[in-house]
Amino acid sequence: MPEKEKDFEDNLEHWHCEKCKIRIGVVDKEEQQIRVRYKDLVVLYDWKGISKNDDELKIICRRCAWMNTKKRIDLNIDTQKQKR
Ligand SMILES: [Zn+2]
Repeated sequence: MPEKEKDFEDNLEHWHCEKCKIRIGVVDKEEQQIRVRYKDLVVLYDWKGISKNDDELKIICRRCAWMNTKKRIDLNIDTQKQKR
């Protein structure tokens, strides 16, 4: 029974292409990472310890070539960690 794998998968927020909706990668809020894997390409964005809110990760959709952007602020994780 792959129950545990399913639970694990549920912790991940999927990042889909804004235009054609294919899955680009996953946002792992627990590990504070965005992970993108396609064939032998792996992109890892690790936002631990980065202090500015204006970071962003851009990736071109492998299907429709739309430029997708994920900003640090979109990850909705800074309110707890950073108090100004
Ligand atoms: Zn697309």
